[in-house]
Amino acid sequence: MHNSDEMNHLSILAAATAAASLWACSQQQQTAESDFDYTADRFADIEVLRYQVPDFDSLTVNQKALVYYLTEAALWGRDIMWDQNCAVNLPLRRALEKIYTSYPGDKNDPDFKAFSKYMKQVWFGNGIHHHYSMDKFVPEFSQAFLEAELDRIGTDADTKAELVRVVFDPEYLAKRVNQEDNADLIATSACNLYGPGLTQAEVEAYYAALKDTTDLTPVSYGLNSRLVKGADGKVSEQVYKIGGLYSPAIEKIVENLDKAKAYAENDAQRHIIEKLVEFYTTGDLKTFDDYSIAWAEDTASQVDFINGFIESYGDPLGMTGSWESIVNFKNIPASRRTETLSANAQWFEDHSPVDPSFRKDKVKGVSAKVITAAILAGDSYPATPIGINLPNANWIRAAHGSKSVTLENITQAYDAANHGNGFDEEFVIDEPTRQLMADYLFITDNLHTDLHECLGHGSGRLLPGVDPDALKAYGSTLEEARADLFALYYLADPKLLEIGLLDNPDAYKAEYYKYILNGMMTQLNRIEPGKNVEEAHMRNRKLIAEWAYEHGKDANVIELVKRDGKTFVKINDYEALRGLFGQLLAEVQRIRSTGDFEAGRQLVEQYAVKVDPELHKEVRERYEALDIAPYRGFVNPVYTPVMDGDSIVDVKVSYGEDYDAQMLRYSRDYSALK
Ligand code: ZN
Repeated sequence: MHNSDEMNHLSILAAATAAASLWACSQQQQTAESDFDYTADRFADIEVLRYQVPDFDSLTVNQKALVYYLTEAALWGRDIMWDQNCAVNLPLRRALEKIYTSYPGDKNDPDFKAFSKYMKQVWFGNGIHHHYSMDKFVPEFSQAFLEAELDRIGTDADTKAELVRVVFDPEYLAKRVNQEDNADLIATSACNLYGPGLTQAEVEAYYAALKDTTDLTPVSYGLNSRLVKGADGKVSEQVYKIGGLYSPAIEKIVENLDKAKAYAENDAQRHIIEKLVEFYTTGDLKTFDDYSIAWAEDTASQVDFINGFIESYGDPLGMTGSWESIVNFKNIPASRRTETLSANAQWFEDHSPVDPSFRKDKVKGVSAKVITAAILAGDSYPATPIGINLPNANWIRAAHGSKSVTLENITQAYDAANHGNGFDEEFVIDEPTRQLMADYLFITDNLHTDLHECLGHGSGRLLPGVDPDALKAYGSTLEEARADLFALYYLADPKLLEIGLLDNPDAYKAEYYKYILNGMMTQLNRIEPGKNVEEAHMRNRKLIAEWAYEHGKDANVIELVKRDGKTFVKINDYEALRGLFGQLLAEVQRIRSTGDFEAGRQLVEQYAVKVDPELHKEVRERYEALDIAPYRGFVNPVYTPVMDGDSIVDVKVSYGEDYDAQMLRYSRDYSALK
């Protein structure tokens, strides 16, 4: 549960003006090619960007070949994720793509234009649901159009009836992941991680029977399986492995991992790849833990990757991992920033404003680096995280540490795309605040991500005997809040100046302002009218901002100011705001350390979910006038190996591919599932 998504970067303006000394090195590599075309497509509420892979050519031929085969292994997992998201996704995508590529009529027909928009939304969502709101997309073309087109491409009657229902019946498969309080989360979620007919009670009973609560090194139950109910009413797991569920796709992943292994940088990395292959072959979750430990401990390799069933946001109960892969290599100069934080990890833990009994006596192996992403795949594509902290298993993190990364070529692309979009002029209260953000938001935003990923998630401990899943459906939101609060609290600490990561004691105010503005107002742009906040990262930001507003009211710490009918966030006392962040961090850590479900539920339900309809309307109208897409994602570069017989002598990287061309190519070249 350790992604921070791109929302952190919606309003960044500054770039090369960032002044901190450690920052300068990484800036230099990224300012070349100012004519780079960052925008690949724009539709619905989405902007698709391109990202660069600076310094790819500085890798050795062996490293390039390793990256190449790992990217192939990454792309072969795509359809697993589509099928996990919803069982109808793959058949629907194939039909839609057939229509899209063979449409004989005028492409300017309103129906076809609306159909194209829907097609692009489905690609972006890896299925029929919005990647963030989890709601089903609403088609703007006619049912008659789809029916005629399905006939034209030769769809049989049953399939046609099903696909038409999928697209046009709003009640059918309405929500991918439902998190509504008091609902049966399994029965009401459309994701395909649980078979038909299962209830939440049955799923919980199944896993409760498996779990040995005295086991101090438990496997991640349910991580790599679909739970089903047989005709006899018996509940069982269909394991994702070779010979099991998704075997044809997993075989292709393994084939490319084997090729990559030949180019491993060292024995440790070779061992990691072998363990992953063993996991895919056996489905054994103990092997996955062995792999995760080896992976967490490998800090020597420059090329790195994740590949597997990782984050569990797609599961209403937070157990099964959505398939994803990111291949990357270390940005060595920029990594000095995160290495400095890591080197001081114990200091941060010891000075954290939480109850001492909830602190870690010894923070183990927090390794942090800044990376250059080479490919984004599965759950990380096209929408992608800007930071990752893995592995997720608590006991592994405690005993072996975790690896934390910041994807700086991704944040750089967001930043470049943000220049001059009018956001700050519309939403930021005054010129001095805008100037502060122009000077310091890029560095403080990146530091926020570093602190969140490499220290925040790794901080604190559970009291003995506390079930790590005790916070249930509220766990993800509270975990993100914990990491964000840790980052916010320390961004304002003089320690960051002392260790040379910031050069101005006021720099943190840029991030504080943006955080409150985003949590209370601007992120509401992503919510459809009448809807609540659902996604864990958004809930977390709203929780923190609203709580601080409420608890700072008497001292007027944060004000909402009205000017010409427009609402502005005004922060009157930044130091007091830091104090509030510290207080809330102490409370959220207490909730987590003691497994206080009821207090966690109340915090989330009171501050993180409900939207003020008037403010919501205002934010959406102001955004609409700016025409800024609320969500963004990426197309990948294209890697082309240069072969000499069977061996790779070079790999070329190119960036020009369009969004629809890339999606169609992936569907054509990397589709192993029926
Ligand atoms: Zn996180």
